[in-house]
Amino acid sequence: MDVRAPGKRPFAKLTRSMKKSILVLASFLCSFAAFAQKRSVSITIDDVPNVRLFQEDGYSSKLLSKLDSLKIPVAIFVNEHNLRQTKPFDKNKNLLKTWLSKDFVTPGNHSYSHPNYGEIGFEAFSGDVLKGETLTKEILKGSGKKLDYFRFPFNAMGKDSVAHLKMQEFLVSKNYKNTPFTVESEDWLFTQLYEKALKSGDKKRAMEIGNQYVKLSLDRFAHFDSVSVVNFQRPVKQIYLCHDNRLNTDFLPVLVQKLKEQGYQMISLADAMQDPAYQSREYYHGNAGFSWLYRWMSDLNERKGLMLAEPENVEIHKAYEEMQKAK
Ligand SMILES: [Zn+2]
Repeated sequence: MDVRAPGKRPFAKLTRSMKKSILVLASFLCSFAAFAQKRSVSITIDDVPNVRLFQEDGYSSKLLSKLDSLKIPVAIFVNEHNLRQTKPFDKNKNLLKTWLSKDFVTPGNHSYSHPNYGEIGFEAFSGDVLKGETLTKEILKGSGKKLDYFRFPFNAMGKDSVAHLKMQEFLVSKNYKNTPFTVESEDWLFTQLYEKALKSGDKKRAMEIGNQYVKLSLDRFAHFDSVSVVNFQRPVKQIYLCHDNRLNTDFLPVLVQKLKEQGYQMISLADAMQDPAYQSREYYHGNAGFSWLYRWMSDLNERKGLMLAEPENVEIHKAYEEMQKAK
């Protein structure tokens, strides 16, 4: 006869392997519940425009052409200084005009020359923010689009809470919304190895790197959906951060397709930021550039544990380090 004393914990009687099975089942149910709820993501692209690729590709942006056919909303974060990196300036300016003219593109300021706020301080950084909007605003005049969004280079928001607040107030005074991100997958690192493989004619290796990028990205989405369930008991509307580079030209369409297959809806930045999660209090006041899903966590140990559990690609990191050493 099974007579349980009141208050006795049935879980305590189970064997270690039974407990493990229950935890696996719980996490499965959790991810199933997350899956059952609508998941969505806004794709955001930093360091636009890439004038080096533009020149290499005969003055066309292949990424932009791909996006034209993908028909998904994207937000772009512009560094106007990029237009000076190659010649002729007028052609580069026209490239920026083309990006901004697309209906599916939400414009954003990413500062003029991509400095690190935590390193250069308020005066220099706020000057760079304003310098970074000149041409974009001129181009947008009469288009019906407004330059509402700003994203910090390196997502570095200043070295302490005073610095955070000071720049936040400055941005608000200039009618900017500070743009967070929740998922990224080191595309800036993958692309350097990817381009190296392409340049050496090793298409097989390039393909491998591209596929690994897509895999890591999907793993990161799954990770940040679970972090989101820990924080908010539901998947938030994610904001994915990537860059204008060769890797995304070739593999962002693959990633988008896979995300759609997993039930993600592609939404605009404005739609994503309607999620009340983006009004959450931030508990991190340093200059590091990690996901907002971590910044919203009040428990430091919980945050550290989840950061350690974040999917990584160790092989790619090693290859990157070797490439840096060889330079
Ligand atoms: Zn950037």
